[in-house]
Formats: sequence, C-alpha cells, structure tokens
Amino acid sequence: MEDWKFYMPTRIRFGWGRFQEIHQVVDELKGKRIFLVTGKKFAKTSGVLDKLSEYLKGLILEVFAEVEENPSIETVDRGAVKCKEAMSDLVIGLGGGSAMDAGKAIAMLQKNPGSIREYLDQERVCQAKGLPCVAIPTTSGTGSEVTPFTVIYHPAKKAKPAIALPENFPEVALVDPELTMSMPFEVAASTGLDALCQAVEGFWSTQANPVTLSLAFQAIKLAMENVESACFEKDRDSVTHMALASHLTGIEMSQIGNTAIHPLSYPITIDHGVSHGFACAIFLPAIIRFNASAIRDRFRDLLTLLNLPNPETFADKIESLMEKLKAPRRLSELGVREEEFPGIAKRGWGRSTAWNPRPMTEEDIIQICKSIL
Ligand code: NAD
Repeated sequence: MEDWKFYMPTRIRFGWGRFQEIHQVVDELKGKRIFLVTGKKFAKTSGVLDKLSEYLKGLILEVFAEVEENPSIETVDRGAVKCKEAMSDLVIGLGGGSAMDAGKAIAMLQKNPGSIREYLDQERVCQAKGLPCVAIPTTSGTGSEVTPFTVIYHPAKKAKPAIALPENFPEVALVDPELTMSMPFEVAASTGLDALCQAVEGFWSTQANPVTLSLAFQAIKLAMENVESACFEKDRDSVTHMALASHLTGIEMSQIGNTAIHPLSYPITIDHGVSHGFACAIFLPAIIRFNASAIRDRFRDLLTLLNLPNPETFADKIESLMEKLKAPRRLSELGVREEEFPGIAKRGWGRSTAWNPRPMTEEDIIQICKSIL
C-alpha cells in the first residue's frame, strides 16, 4: 500500500442529461466524421439514436448498429472495415460493455493493421494510438468507459480474451445515468450485480492501492444500497447511484484488473449463454466465503461500513439480493453439470486469478462449483 501508481487519461463528464453535450465533446476532439458503434436494437428502439443524430447535426454520422452481446472478432473486424471506408475521424461506443468494447477495438484498428484476433492472440502488438474514442455507457455494470480493456469473444478458442493497453483508454467517458433508464429489468439486474462483483473484487485484490480501495469501498456501498431500487423503482437517485457505482469500479479496475470471479464467468457465458453479470454474480457468495479468512482486517472495515457482523452475513445478504433480482444462484439452474467443473476450472483461470487474496487452485474452483451446483 505504500508504493503504487495510478494512470487515468480519460476525461470524465458525469451527470443526468449530459448526453446532450455530445456535440461539444466531439468538437473538443476535433471530430467531423463520426463512426457510431452500438447494439443491434436498443439504440434505435429507445430513441437514443434519433437524439444522437439530432445532437450531432452538421457532422457526418455513420452508424454501425451490429454489436451483439459479447462482441465477436468477426463483428469487430467488420466494423473496423466500415469505419475505414467511412473515413471516420472519431469513434463513439454507445451501449453496454459490449458496444463500448467493440468501439474501443474498432478505434484501435484504424491506426493498427490486421484483425483484432491477432492482437488477442498476441501475434501483433499495438504500435499506435487509435482514433479518438468517446465511450457512452447505457448499462450500469462494466465501467468500460474508463478502462483500457477490450473483451472480445474468440469463437475458435471458446474464450473471452482481453486486450489491455494504455492506448485503449477512451478519450472521453460521457456518463449520463438517464440513458440507463430504458434497460429491461433483467439487464439492470445483471449489470448491477456485475458492478457489485467488480467492486468486491477491487476490495479484496492483492493489487489494491489506497485509491482503488477507496473507490471499491464506495462502489460496494452504493451498489448494495441501490441496486434493488434501481431495478424495481427506477427512481432517479438510485439509478444515478448505480451509474456511479459502475463508473467507480471501472476507474478502480482500470488500475488493478479483477480477481478470480470475472475469468470464471467466461465459460459460463460462452457455454450456457448466461449474461455477463449473472455469470459473475453466481460465484460471488461462494468466493466471499472462500476468501473470508484470508483478509480479516480488510473485511472488518467493510463490515463496519455496511453494518454487518461477519463475512457470512455479507454473503447471505448478497444471496438474498440475488433472489430478489431473480438472478440464478445455482449452476444447475443454468444447465451446468458436474462433469463440466474440471473444464470450468481450466478455462476459468485468468491472469487475475492470481490476484485473489486467497490463492486458488483448480481443485478449489471445483469445490466452489460443487458448493453452488
Ligand atoms: P451488454 O453490453 O452485452 O448489453 C446487454 C444487453 O442490453 C444488450 O442486448 C444491449 O443491447 C442491451 N442494452 C444495453 N443498454 C441498454 C439500454 N439502456 N436499454 C435497453 N437495452 C440496453 O451488457 P454489459 O453487461 O454492459 O456488457 C458486458 C460485456 O462487457 C461483456 O462482453 C463483458 O466481458 C464486457 N466487460 C468489459 C469490461 C471492460 O473494462 N472493457 C469490464 C467488464 C465487462
């Protein structure tokens, strides 16, 4: 904790209604030909795309509304070609983590040759900063608008590798919580639980520093107190607090990554089509129990903040929250079978697993999976 560094080049604009500042943001970055990267449906159906076209009147706007959940190599490469053809000079990634990650990757490929696959497989190294990228989140879960990470689905490897490059930080994060109001209940619940997982991983990471720890504490409190009302009541305060929780975890994670939970979610998402947030959250209570003994002092501070007596009650509270949010809590509910556990333990192992506060072996992961089957 005495020796640490922090790098955050992304300019942040946060606040209800700030989406209308997009023209000003683009002007500051000298963008004239804008390439919008977004999801297949929601930007059109929610009216956000119409609003954006209105705000960007006078500029050239090319729309790439083809990003699926967990964007694939093929989608990113296709978007990169279209962006080049459009001779765009600025990319906007508008959506959840999927659209923002695809936007960041497409921006990078404008100044670096080849397919995104070659970067994911480490056959090529990014040599140049990509086009300026403005990231606009419409979910409250990933914090991708302030991270240097791009997570892309790699079908040949049945994996979700990430590129992590300092050049990949978006130039601007424009966070307008109002944009998240159109999330259906399930998306709000899943992404809200993702923010909570990221916050808890930031809290117990062996890589934590005083700044990331402050962010993680605040994000846990915000998420614990607001995720339920943000999903059910959708009142402005709780929706804004969830946008903030997600955003703070993004800043924290941009410095220190995750721990054991995020990599474990990937095989669950890929093999069983489970949304990213739910695939993370299903492991959270069990891993709180697994880690509790390794970080007693840090837990003491968190439990005081949350007014809870012990880590077990923290895990219980999250389980009851998950139940209210209709999140799956048992792997069997998702169709996962015990025979898959050794594969999950292997494929769910990432670089960040080593940053879990209690060292975790493949056998530990199998036991964790058994406890939540
Ligand atoms: P998502 O982007 O996949 O979106 C989920 C669904 O919700 C999509 O169908 C999308 O179109 C829809 N949607 C998004 N916003 C909406 C809105 N306001 N109204 C209605 N529908 C809306 O979900 P996500 O959880 O935000 O992102 C998950 C992806 O982000 C995964 O690929 C994950 O690995 C990645 N991720 C990236 C980082 C990072 O730092 N780069 C961090 C965590 C996760």
